[in-house]
Amino acid sequence: MVSVNKETCIGCGSCSAICGDVFEMKDGKAEVKAGADTSKPCVKEATDACPVDAIS
Ligand code: SF4
Repeated sequence: MVSVNKETCIGCGSCSAICGDVFEMKDGKAEVKAGADTSKPCVKEATDACPVDAIS
């Protein structure tokens, strides 16, 4: 299970750029796409790339 903390997310877009199959931007914040395969390796890359550690 992967989730984005919308309180912390600053909407930089890195996660959706790195892992667009799983993360999408909505109203200036990232969210996990419905039905996304969160076991994809790019999820860890996106998590590591998030500047505010909003993905957990
Ligand atoms: S990388 Fe982090 S701060 Fe940037 S949009 Fe994704 S969750 Fe938000």
